[in-house]
Amino acid sequence: MMRTVFAALLVAAAAPALGQTSITTLPPPAVADPKVAALRDFVLDNDHYAWDIVEGLTTEVGQRLAATDAEARARDWAVRRLTAMGFRNVHVEPFTMTAWIRGPESSEIVSPFPQKLVVTALGNSASTGPAGVTGQIVYFDSVDALRVAPDSAVRGKIVFIDHQMTPTQDGSGYGQFGAPRRQGPTFASLKGALAVVVRSIGTDHHRNPHAGVQYFTDGAKPIPAGALTVPDSEQLVRILKRGRPVTMHLTLVSHTLDNAQSGNVVAEVPGRDPNAPILLVGGHLDSWDLATGAIDDGAGIAITTAAAKHIMDAGQPERTVRVVWFGAEEPGGFGGAAYAKAHAADRYAIAGESDFGADRVWRFSTKLKDTDPATYRELAASLAPLSILQNDSGTADGTDIEATIAAGAPWISLNQDGIRYFDVHHTPDDTLDKIDPVQLRQNVAAWTTMLAVLSGGIEPGAKQQSRR
Ligand SMILES: [Zn+2]
Repeated sequence: MMRTVFAALLVAAAAPALGQTSITTLPPPAVADPKVAALRDFVLDNDHYAWDIVEGLTTEVGQRLAATDAEARARDWAVRRLTAMGFRNVHVEPFTMTAWIRGPESSEIVSPFPQKLVVTALGNSASTGPAGVTGQIVYFDSVDALRVAPDSAVRGKIVFIDHQMTPTQDGSGYGQFGAPRRQGPTFASLKGALAVVVRSIGTDHHRNPHAGVQYFTDGAKPIPAGALTVPDSEQLVRILKRGRPVTMHLTLVSHTLDNAQSGNVVAEVPGRDPNAPILLVGGHLDSWDLATGAIDDGAGIAITTAAAKHIMDAGQPERTVRVVWFGAEEPGGFGGAAYAKAHAADRYAIAGESDFGADRVWRFSTKLKDTDPATYRELAASLAPLSILQNDSGTADGTDIEATIAAGAPWISLNQDGIRYFDVHHTPDDTLDKIDPVQLRQNVAAWTTMLAVLSGGIEPGAKQQSRR
């Protein structure tokens, strides 16, 4: 066998005379299937499904806080829209959870320089009650500084945790700089703090606070926990630098509702082979309550649903495409966990989630590179004209598919450009106007291409068969 390969290389080595300029021992790059390329290029220029979905959802439903009536209205909207688009097996898979509901909130410096600061409560914050609490601010430049501080420095005070988050294309700062929000409240509570405020986990300089979830762990009792806007945090730092004691009055009212209902909305493009492993795509339907959740994650459900719809329009795929609009992602991935539990017996060819805004896809990664190199190379060749690079060291992306992947589903990540994402993420500014329609279409083209390559082949004109 080695001799045959060697002989082939010798033939190849002679090729420059025939016009080639180099040889390689790597397999030749795969070429995109012309039908997939044509579909990709059509979608890039013509998709309107994604815009229609995100425009419709953000306009007709608006904010969709998990396990509230607004999220229920969003599920009703989803069922109507997905049914009207021709998806099959459209249904809601309900689950119950404890909902956390925001009330009135405000903060002000009482002394030495009285003035209002803009704040929002973090998820699972304790309520101050309408009267609020008043305490002296104690400053920490990181969550680690708070962690090692003596209890005596914190007890009875309002902890303020600062940080220096900067934008990155891959969004990697969210892990490191998200720590003040995720762990800060627990450390502050364990040390006896009255309350805690963090600099918003954001990269903008607008007076918009960034909401987000946190949990009190390790036996910490819930205390009021909020996020100040970035400009207000910088203002507070300047006030603190004057060296005088700083007193804040903080009002963060909230309440919880036990046994509140959420749910996942499921829709399918049935495949020709109902027993073939499924292509699972989606995003999350719920949003934080400060805005209409256009980039988080109206865009993600719009992109993945539009891609599935383009597959439907092209014919019938061999494999079923399942779209899930997950419920209650923001408070901690409740929808993804409920879905994985309900569908433990299902088998997947791939699972992918879009939940990082609406800016262009710039690279992708998947373990198919190791498990199915031929398909991987075809995928890379098909995505390359969209200026999408291969990322060898990528990881699975998406809270909603985490449990499904943990149970063994192969994954794909189509990574979006994250430079702008944390300017708007979880703020009152997450609105439709932040979505660039041209970049949105590039996303739909990328997801359509991925589904087409992994579909097992699309039969034009084939009749869909309901799986019901
Ligand atoms: Zn999200």
